[in-house]
Amino acid sequence: MIPYSRQTIDEDDIAAVVSVLRSDWLTQGPTIAEFEKALAEYSGARFAVAAPNGTAALYLAYKAAGQKEGDEIITVPNTFVATSNMALICGANPVFCDIRSDTHNIDENKIEELITSKTKAIVPVHFAGHPCEMDKIIEIAKKHNLLVIEDACHAIGAKYKNKRIGGIGDLTVFSFHPVKPITTGEGGAILTNNEKYYQTMLRLRTHGITKDPEKTETIGKWHYEMIDLAFNHRITDIPCALGVSQLKKLDRFQKARERVAEYYFEKLKNLKGIVLPTKLAHIKHSWHLFPINLKDAGKRKEVFDYLQANGVGVQVHYIPAHWQPYARPKPVIGAN
Ligand SMILES: *Cc1c(COP(=O)(O)O)cnc(C)c1O
Repeated sequence: MIPYSRQTIDEDDIAAVVSVLRSDWLTQGPTIAEFEKALAEYSGARFAVAAPNGTAALYLAYKAAGQKEGDEIITVPNTFVATSNMALICGANPVFCDIRSDTHNIDENKIEELITSKTKAIVPVHFAGHPCEMDKIIEIAKKHNLLVIEDACHAIGAKYKNKRIGGIGDLTVFSFHPVKPITTGEGGAILTNNEKYYQTMLRLRTHGITKDPEKTETIGKWHYEMIDLAFNHRITDIPCALGVSQLKKLDRFQKARERVAEYYFEKLKNLKGIVLPTKLAHIKHSWHLFPINLKDAGKRKEVFDYLQANGVGVQVHYIPAHWQPYARPKPVIGAN
């Protein structure tokens, strides 16, 4: 069976994890900060906050962006359910925008008609690793005073107009689940250039607790204050060691994915019943997925079962979020 995705773990990845296991710090140690620094440097963002998974990272990003009861975010239904779920958990309503038929990304020309007085953020998802039209999205966000929170769980390593995904929007979320471009087992991160969001996320990651240096000086070193209601959303040093090691290989992994994509393009180009993925000229694709569309959608089950039976582990990305039983009759459906 060819699985739809598989991690690559080398001996030096294993050695990196073992060295943390032999150290004094399994959690809240130096390897988390080391991973965050490496992620920020790689992505061209000022700050990174590592999280236990991409879903928790989305939650922290939405919270740092101030999402609350009654707010609206504009995102797509063609994504993993976590994108809209974490907005719902914050009390905000996801308003679903239609997608482009070529890249399957948010249709940047259909965003503006969905903006209301409650809209707080646009949440583009870089589907399959193909970046969304960020210039247009940022232009709309600026005009309407909205934040741009990118769900880039597929897209570490991708570029939009020669800029790495991670340093573009107000907040950008990565996942390091084993099917994603690099892995920490479970893991995620938020990238930002905004120091206030960064400090807020550090606090929200650890119970909303902070230590004010002035007060610890005057009151005592034990003093701490809880100023937000939050979870324990800390990642440990063990997966972060794997992350530091994996990140060094991302460019190598990326090249391997490009070779595989080229191979698929070449071998599938004469098949009449399918539409191959679009890659716009001004982007670099991370090729998390190689999505093909069937011209006859009625054949999906037949094709899916045939490929599975012949050892090709395809998947359907995605069952639209608003088709899920939980989503009926809420949340608000913005478009189609
Ligand atoms: C994987 C993924 C997530 C969630 O990440 P986890 O690390 O699995 O929690 C969110 N959004 C998208 C688009 C994803 O692909």
